[in-house]
Amino acid sequence: QPLVGNLIGEDHVNYVLMYNMLTGIRIAVSRCQAKIRRPLTDDDFAACHKFSFDIVGNELTPSAKYDFKFKDYAPWVFRELREDYFHLDPADYLLSLTAKYILSELGSPGKSGSFFYFSRDYRFIIKTIHHNEHKFLRNVLKKYHEHVKSNPHTLISRFYGLHRVKLPRGRKIHFVIMNNLFPPHKDIHETFDLKGSTVGREYPEEKAARNPRAVMKDLNWINRGKTLELGPEKRALLTEQLRRDSELLKELHVMDYSLLVGIHHMKRGNRDNVRSNTLKVFSPEVSLIRRKTQVKGPSSPEAIAMRRIMRESDPQRLGSGTIKLPDEDTGERQHFIFYQNEGGLRATDEANAEMDTIYYLGVIDILTPYNSLKKVEHFWKGLSADRHKISPVPPTEYGERFFSFMKACMRGGEGYSRFKSE
Ligand code: ATP
Ligand code: CA
Ligand code: CA
Repeated sequence: QPLVGNLIGEDHVNYVLMYNMLTGIRIAVSRCQAKIRRPLTDDDFAACHKFSFDIVGNELTPSAKYDFKFKDYAPWVFRELREDYFHLDPADYLLSLTAKYILSELGSPGKSGSFFYFSRDYRFIIKTIHHNEHKFLRNVLKKYHEHVKSNPHTLISRFYGLHRVKLPRGRKIHFVIMNNLFPPHKDIHETFDLKGSTVGREYPEEKAARNPRAVMKDLNWINRGKTLELGPEKRALLTEQLRRDSELLKELHVMDYSLLVGIHHMKRGNRDNVRSNTLKVFSPEVSLIRRKTQVKGPSSPEAIAMRRIMRESDPQRLGSGTIKLPDEDTGERQHFIFYQNEGGLRATDEANAEMDTIYYLGVIDILTPYNSLKKVEHFWKGLSADRHKISPVPPTEYGERFFSFMKACMRGGEGYSRFKSE
């Protein structure tokens, strides 16, 4: 499960899908972005804007290479989330996403069959989701929005957009755009996906030894004797945020989410960086046209700049060039306390002095409600193992166990004995 991908070129099996996704985003997002901001209404949460693309084009949608339909869900809500709470620059967002080349792979790393794609600069992840996850996100969007608004430092996945592509033969593909927790400029030396469940939660150590990019699980964390090295200050902040986040997740009645932990050892640096620091992208000019464009009206300089960006980022029109990935973290991560040190959270000792480790942390995969299928899984898995240590447990229990486990993970925590199976 490497966190690097293959560039999707025209010969890639998913090129058409990718092209349609990006073209849809480009048009839909810029349409919404070109209007003057207004306060959200209740209808905005249920809204869905439809676009129909074809090779001819019309006054609403420019011509595209393929025929497809595109839906943009709750565009005003996501716009507010991006601009006000996630501190994304609108032009930056579009530019990063709608490059000619987006990175594929993570292919389908989980069991769910979802596909993951990176934006060319690694800042954003597109994840295809199931129809029920999509419906669920729409249903809880209001609560999610409220939570993000009152918890600017939440560790929960930042959702930047929710869309659907429909191909002519009728296949509907739903997807979200979210933050990549791992930064482009730092190697991740160890990765863990932690749930607080200890039944079957182990990546084989002998395989891990051969694959430094493996995503390890709870039992690997426990058996390796890992702890989150955080001094009293950061420990308190992280604990409080995780407490609030797990309260929301309990309330949403979800389970199966996890804390993704990426660890960068500063002494090891970036020597074993597999990923090339220079990526092929659509235009060498790209950095020149990055700038704040808060659109104020169709003929304002900002709007003209935005149109230029739209033109420049059109995947049909551009040749390729190279762009250097940043050597340091700039941008929106600076706004968030848990992502402020090189895009992550630097380890500290008991005197709150900095240590040589950076953590990249976030709560991911939060769209799985506890439904009848999960109840059945709970029943069957519970027959052969401790009913409280298996992964599928009811949401309240899941949230409490998750939170206790994360506290146990921190230095000074009580240890893991109560999570282990006998
Ligand atoms: P399953 O339901 O089987 O657990 P899934 O398809 O829903 O799988 P996720 O659990 O969301 O997938 O993610 C799978 C893996 O992808 C994670 O363990 C992690 O390695 C990577 N990943 C997911 N989201 C992010 C993110 N926001 N930033 C960085 N890596 C991520
Ligand atoms: Ca998962
Ligand atoms: Ca999942």
